[in-house]
Amino acid sequence: MTRRSATGHAKDMSAPTRSAWNHTLGRQALLLAIAMLAGLLGGHPWPALAVAALCLAGWHCWKLRGVLARLESHQRASRPTGAGAWDALERLLRRNQDGMRARNRRLVAMLHAYRAVAAALPDAVVVIERNSQRVQWFNAAATTLLGLEYPRDVEAPLGERLQGLRIAHWLAAGRNAEPLPDVPSPVAPDVRLNLRLIPYSEDLWLVVARDVTKLMRLEQVRRDFVANVSHELRTPLTVVHGYLDMLDPDEQPEWAPMLREMQRQSQRMTRLVEDLLTLSRLEAQEGVEDDAVAVAPMLAALRREAEALSQGRHRIVVEDLAALDLVGSARELHSAFSNLVSNAVRYTPTGGTVTIRFAREGDGAALAVEDTGQGIPAPHIPRLSERFYRVSTSRSRESGGTGLGLAIVKHVLNLHDARLGISSEVGRGSIFSCHFGAARVRPRAALPSGAEP
Ligand code: ADP
Repeated sequence: MTRRSATGHAKDMSAPTRSAWNHTLGRQALLLAIAMLAGLLGGHPWPALAVAALCLAGWHCWKLRGVLARLESHQRASRPTGAGAWDALERLLRRNQDGMRARNRRLVAMLHAYRAVAAALPDAVVVIERNSQRVQWFNAAATTLLGLEYPRDVEAPLGERLQGLRIAHWLAAGRNAEPLPDVPSPVAPDVRLNLRLIPYSEDLWLVVARDVTKLMRLEQVRRDFVANVSHELRTPLTVVHGYLDMLDPDEQPEWAPMLREMQRQSQRMTRLVEDLLTLSRLEAQEGVEDDAVAVAPMLAALRREAEALSQGRHRIVVEDLAALDLVGSARELHSAFSNLVSNAVRYTPTGGTVTIRFAREGDGAALAVEDTGQGIPAPHIPRLSERFYRVSTSRSRESGGTGLGLAIVKHVLNLHDARLGISSEVGRGSIFSCHFGAARVRPRAALPSGAEP
C-alpha cells in the first residue's frame, strides 16, 4: 500500500526531484542497514537501529525547522549543494521565489508606467473612494485644473474640497451622473472644464476634468457668428419681402410665376432667419422664467393653429386629461409645442388625424403630439433634433420646413429640464412627446369666469 502510493507520487515528480527523493531514501536505508549491522556485531541490533532512526528523525526535524524559519522571515531559500530531497525542496522554493520576484518586478514596472501615463495626461484625473468620496490619488493636471495639492488633499472628501463647483450632488448620483459639460475651474474661473465621473471598480471612481476652454470659445464664436449673420440678414430680407408683397402677381400675368416663386422663397428665408435667431436666443439663455403657464388656453391656441395649417385636410383632436398647468416660459413652450403640431400636420397626408394630448405622467406631465402620418425610419430618430437634419429634404422644403423646428423644441425642453421622446412607425405615424418633471407642473388654476379656454 505504502509502496504503491510512494510510486504513485513519484510519477507526479520531475526526473531530478524523483532522483533526489530516491537518493534520500537510499541513503536512509543504507544508514539504517549500517546501524543494524553494527548493532548485530555489538549484540544489540534493535537499540542500534532505534538510535539511528531517532538521529534520522532529528535531522529531518532540524532541516524542516530551517525551511520554515526561512519562509517565515521571507528569507531567500539557501542555495542547495547536495543531491537529496531537502536540497530538491530548497531548489524548488528558490525557483518559485525567483519567479515571484521577477513577476513582482514586472508588475511594479507596469504600475509605474501606468502611473506615469496617468500623471502625464493633460486631463485632471482624480481617483476617489466610492462611499466616502475621499481622494485616493490624483495627477499633476488635477493641481493645475482643480487646485488639488499633495499631500494636503489626499483623503479629503472631493465634494468639500471643490465646494465652489457644487458637485456634491453630482458625485452622489454615481453611475447615473451625466457629464457636466461646462464648469468653471476653481483655480481660474475663465478656464472651463468638462467633468466626467467614471465608476471603474466596485470601490473606486474616477473623476476626469478636461479643459474645454478653447472648445467653448469656438462654440461661442460660432453662436455669435450665426446670431450676427441672422441679425444682419433680417433687415434686408424684410425690405425685399415687403416690396415683393406689394407686387400683385395677378396684375402682371407675364411675371406671375416668377413673382410667386420669389415671394415663396423670400418667405422661406424669413422663416429661416427667424428660426436661427430663436435658436441663438435659446442657446444664450441660462434658464427660463418660473411663470405659471395655463395649459388649457395653450391647447386651444394649438388647435386653432393646427386647423389653420391643415385647412380642413386633417382631423384635429385635443385631449386635456391632466388638470395641471406647467411652470416655465409660456412663449417658449408655445413655440416648442407649435413646432410639433406644425410638423404633425405637414408630415401627415390628407385624411389623417393629429392628436394633441396633455396627460399626467408619474408626478409630472407629458404633452404628446401624435399623428397618423408617414412615420420616420428608426435610424433617423436619434438625429432628428440636430439642426438641418431632415429625413427628406425635398419634403421638408415643399412643406415650408426650415430643418430647425425640432432643434428649437429640444432647446426649449432643456431649458425646462424636460425631455423630448420620439416614437414612430413607418406608414403608421409618429408620437413626439414632451416629458415634464414634478418641479415643472402645478395644479391647474381655475379660469376666470367667462374666460374662454
Ligand atoms: P423641418 O422644418 O424640416 O420639419 P424639423 O426640425 O421640424 O425640421 O424636423 C426635422 C425632420 O424630422 C423633418 O425634416 C422630418 O423629416 C422629420 N419629422 C419631424 N416631425 C415629423 C413627423 N411628425 N412625421 C414625420 N417626420 C417628421
